[in-house]
Amino acid sequence: MAALPRSVNVRPGQPMPVTPLAHDASNPVTRWQRELAAAIRTPEALCAALDLDPAIAAAAHTAGDTFPLLVPRGFLARMRKGDPRDPLLLQVMPQPQEQATATGFSSDPLDEASALAAPGLVHKYAGRALLLVAAGCAINCRYCFRREFPYAESGATSAGTEAALAAIAADPSLHEVILSGGDPLLVADDRLQGIVDRLAAMPHVRRLRIHSRLPIVLPERVTDDLVDLLAATRLAVTVVVHANHARELDDTVAAAVDRLRQSRAILLNQAVLLKGVNDSAPVLEALSERLLDLGVVPYYLHLLDRVRGTAHFEVDEATARRLHDELRASLPGYAVPRLAREVPGAAAKVWIG
Ligand SMILES: *Cc1c(COP(=O)(O)O)cnc(C)c1O
Ligand code: SF4
Repeated sequence: MAALPRSVNVRPGQPMPVTPLAHDASNPVTRWQRELAAAIRTPEALCAALDLDPAIAAAAHTAGDTFPLLVPRGFLARMRKGDPRDPLLLQVMPQPQEQATATGFSSDPLDEASALAAPGLVHKYAGRALLLVAAGCAINCRYCFRREFPYAESGATSAGTEAALAAIAADPSLHEVILSGGDPLLVADDRLQGIVDRLAAMPHVRRLRIHSRLPIVLPERVTDDLVDLLAATRLAVTVVVHANHARELDDTVAAAVDRLRQSRAILLNQAVLLKGVNDSAPVLEALSERLLDLGVVPYYLHLLDRVRGTAHFEVDEATARRLHDELRASLPGYAVPRLAREVPGAAAKVWIG
């Protein structure tokens, strides 16, 4: 997203780094890892679970196989059966339009490859940088700007993290480190703890930010251990979750967010404006209202990053501005997310309107 670190996805041809760990008592497979291993991975299974016409699954295969379908069952449970236009389904079901070529849509529209300050470290903006710690996501969102990002060559690996940590230690201008990926919460607690401890030992690092879709799509990930880990660090923590539609925020998510709040982290949300999913004022209002009910402040509403295969999700800027004006006319100021787009080479995300 132009946003950030939206989460993860896997490079074509690479295995998802999410297979369950070995079954031994010192390294037990946690409940969230089991949930992830049980995720839906084929259009046929998704159609069957939702009572949809099998022709939809057949069409999904024409989207190509470089960015596979991946949907946790808990997220599936929030979709409406029999509705091929369900806004949650549209985010995950491959569509033939992904093969369409569109001018201005490319494989790395944000030019992240050239912003790598070290393996695994994307440093574009003053004072803060992205530390890529995971190369996969728990869900594959069709609109994702990282659907073609070469994680393996970009250092989202343990060795890359070492190099990135050394670069952060050597740059006193970095006051905030943003864990990203893929989805940084796919990293197991012991590795996460190690990274957080290393950052906390650097005097110039004051803030830790985590951009993750897991609290939304795999709420089981928000364990008491994770909350304790975030509560214990000396760093000021912000967690930015990623929900695009109020229906993503069911009671299981509300419970996860409630646990997360006990860490005293600041909780924000980023969304992407997506045609057919959330491109109407009532839908965006409902999202803001539901987020605030949960104690999450709407932070960004991103215009789509123009990554190849996503043109069918694009909402034009004039429509985006109009929707944003409608939100401002109906919600308190703090409930209106900043409408923004990422422009390669700019000093920050560009606010629109
Ligand atoms: C989006 C982004 C950030 C964070 O931007 P904020 O406006 O602080 O949320 C930082 N670094 C990179 C490379 C980003 O893409
Ligand atoms: S959670 Fe979705 S949008 Fe975020 S990085 Fe993963 S695939 Fe992309």
